[in-house]
Amino acid sequence: MSDKQVVTRIAPSPTGFMHIGTARTALFNWLFARRHGGQFLLRIEDTDRARSTDEATEAIYRGLTWLGLDWDGDTFSQFARADRHAEVAHQMLADGAAYKCFSTQEEIQAFREQARAEGKSTLFRSPWRDAIPSTHPDAPFAIRVKAPQSGDTVIHDQVQGDVTIRNDQLDDMICLRSDGTPTYMLAVVVDDHDMGVTHVIRGDDHLNNAARQMLVYLSMGWKVPVWAHVPLIHGPDGKKLSKRHGATGVEEYQAMGIPAVAMRNYLTRLGWSHGDDEFFTDAQAKEWFDLKGIGKSPARLDMKKLENLSAQHIARIDDASLVAQISAYLDAAGKPALTDRQITGLTEAMYCLKDRARSFPDLLEKGHFILTKRPIERDEKSDKVLDAVSKSILNELTPQLQNASWTREALEEVANAVAAANDVKFGKLASPLRAALAGRSVTPSIFDMMLVLGREETVLRLQEATRD
Ligand code: GLU
Repeated sequence: MSDKQVVTRIAPSPTGFMHIGTARTALFNWLFARRHGGQFLLRIEDTDRARSTDEATEAIYRGLTWLGLDWDGDTFSQFARADRHAEVAHQMLADGAAYKCFSTQEEIQAFREQARAEGKSTLFRSPWRDAIPSTHPDAPFAIRVKAPQSGDTVIHDQVQGDVTIRNDQLDDMICLRSDGTPTYMLAVVVDDHDMGVTHVIRGDDHLNNAARQMLVYLSMGWKVPVWAHVPLIHGPDGKKLSKRHGATGVEEYQAMGIPAVAMRNYLTRLGWSHGDDEFFTDAQAKEWFDLKGIGKSPARLDMKKLENLSAQHIARIDDASLVAQISAYLDAAGKPALTDRQITGLTEAMYCLKDRARSFPDLLEKGHFILTKRPIERDEKSDKVLDAVSKSILNELTPQLQNASWTREALEEVANAVAAANDVKFGKLASPLRAALAGRSVTPSIFDMMLVLGREETVLRLQEATRD
């Protein structure tokens, strides 16, 4: 197969939010398609009408868009294709690959109860499987696949290896319900076939479905796609990820101020590996991503690792893009937008903020000195630091700063000289300076702050701090 023919897809059911497992599946499919110059498609599995609200579908678009996973062409709606699904069910019926089942819900229920009571398999065996049409009643019927009852079905899975399912474990699944609506198991196969999907990469919670879906491919004489069933994400304790482990929705990570590029890196690495590489760029991921690198055992969510990658990416994003992403983050978080003055200040200060910032709010906290205005509001700790002794030292420093040349070396020299004259180490001066310039104790270096603020603003802030 030439690379050009690769077609992957993400097929989320609208649930109201985008789970990071879905995001990771989307990412894997996107990377695989991009790596092979193929197509990455989006299909909304909106057959559950109650859950498939516009809002729930919007959450999927928002998640994919924030993550930067662009899909090719128009979005497919599974629900809109119901007629086509029914057409295939009837085709299978005409071909003898499926049959009409007239069993009612009550009969099926009774069958199960009896089987349970007798300790037999509760897999429903329809009495209509081999019935001749002349015995058919004039009543509603479901269309069931005629599954083989002996032998094995083998899924050649790119992650799990060959998975063999005994055919006597498979029931004659329903393709079309008696009310004429298609089942998910049929729809997914028809859609994947019609969309030309070549590779189905999805969570391994769908592995059992694959054996049953395979029957539809085989009955219709369609080419079975390459399967890759990826183990689900687990929490740090090794149990299936749930709310109690922390954030499970993509939007929660966006709200934490993790840049999308870091989230892509982290999610790609979560369950896939390329040697020992932890940090990588999008370009590298697109070049490296393959199905062989997907691990067989579930990956565990690790916030420390995510923060670490986030810091590494923030340090590498160019300043203008960083400011734009921070603005988008504030907007999404419903926080006040940056003013022009703040954008200019932040851009100038970026060189001393972006190193070791684990997230956008972390960076903004470090950048507080440039975002804030006089009068500088000091937090409690900073207030305490500005005692009478410190103030008097700052009072000595201020006039010297008025005459110093505004370079890092000159500022360091002046500050060290004032510290020495007062018989204190420069460290003793650092805290009151932080308090005066930023009102906080966690800031960039004193000299970076002075350089960014400029002489006039620095002096005014020192005067203000020593005045009261
Ligand atoms: N709609 C399914 C889900 O959200 C995915 C089906 C598939 O990938 O085949 O889990």
